[in-house]
Amino acid sequence: MPNNADLLARRARSIPRGVATALPIFAARAENAELWDEDGRRFMDFAGGISVLNVGHRHPTIIAAAKLQLDAFTHTAFQVVGYRPYIELCEKLNTIAPISGEIRSVLFTTGAEAVENAVKIARAATGRHGVIAFSGGFHGRTTLTMALTGKVNPYKTAFGASIPGVHHLPFPIPQYGVGVPDTMRALDLLFAADLDPGHVAAIIIEPVQGEGGFHVAPTELLSALREVCDAHGIVLIADEVQSGFGRTGRMFAIEHSGVEPDLVAVAKSMAGGFPLSGVIGRASLMDAIEPGGMGGTYGGSPVACAAALAVLAVFDEEALLERANRQGEYLRMVLENAADREDLIPIGNIRGLGAMVGFDILKERGSNVPLANGAKAIASRAFDEGLILLSCGAHGETIRILVPLTAPQAHLDEGMAALMRALGTY
Ligand code: PMP
Repeated sequence: MPNNADLLARRARSIPRGVATALPIFAARAENAELWDEDGRRFMDFAGGISVLNVGHRHPTIIAAAKLQLDAFTHTAFQVVGYRPYIELCEKLNTIAPISGEIRSVLFTTGAEAVENAVKIARAATGRHGVIAFSGGFHGRTTLTMALTGKVNPYKTAFGASIPGVHHLPFPIPQYGVGVPDTMRALDLLFAADLDPGHVAAIIIEPVQGEGGFHVAPTELLSALREVCDAHGIVLIADEVQSGFGRTGRMFAIEHSGVEPDLVAVAKSMAGGFPLSGVIGRASLMDAIEPGGMGGTYGGSPVACAAALAVLAVFDEEALLERANRQGEYLRMVLENAADREDLIPIGNIRGLGAMVGFDILKERGSNVPLANGAKAIASRAFDEGLILLSCGAHGETIRILVPLTAPQAHLDEGMAALMRALGTY
């Protein structure tokens, strides 16, 4: 029988180091917020496959929908023979889009592909090249999305010249002394010194930064960007790959601000564990690309589309947006109590929207200065306590919680108790 130790040794011999795995275990099976490894040890899964499992592992409605599709057909390539689940899903996405007016949607496989295609649509629609993104932002590992990602190490270090035309602004983070006026001054400077706004196709922003540290884009920033885009004919792209699909208590995080983007990149929790992504956007922009200019052999897999339709049904049936808000309140309450406890490692800067909650490990009690790599150490202790937990942030200082919105209270309690033990100063 394979076990963790055996698989770890085989992995080292057969798979390159460049694909990192956070934990030295291998999954054998999983249900909702629980995961069992190959040695039979049980874990609470508060990582949700990096924000893919808002509806939990193997939700019965989603598994049933996928099985039904498996029994019909698994692949035709949408560019060869179309199919109903693709159409039905795009129709649904068009109705839930956080954008008014006529909407179209198109499907792909990965988050990076969705972002790449959003930029292609913006470039085709505007006839311009430039793209503005943000420091600390994460948009993927392909050549274009790597350029958009606002962090050098490890994403860009070894990979040569970046794609021209990509510029970054500082993302406002109060604990690092950067506010919205600083971001807007940097934009003015960029327009004055380097880049004609008339050459900019798109501004892309995560309404809540994911990998960058669960920093919420302030409403003033999103409104100011909307104004700049309107003034100069620039396309505003919301990258909702991590913040979308109900995590924040709204279907899309940008809805909290009341600001309408022009295009939205979606992926991760959209299909409840199946690989699927898409771009949702204004019809006037979405139709700019000539037939054949977008697509991909596997884009909009029928099995993933069937699963995604079931995800949307589960959101309605189980009132998951409401549950996300309740879960977020609970997580915040536990974390705020922990922040007050003298017997725990100091934590603070508790933040997020809905159930997209993060906090920093602090350098010292009473300050709000984050401890570099502090969260990595806590995630590793949490693992010893039976909890799968992810760090994030430019300096490995933030713990992010991405437990399924469907997790029963007993499992939330169990996971948070493990986190408290990990924060204990033993
Ligand atoms: N955008 C955001 C906001 C993400 O969080 C991620 C993945 N962490 C991506 C894009 C890239 O998605 P994928 O890994 O599926 O290509």
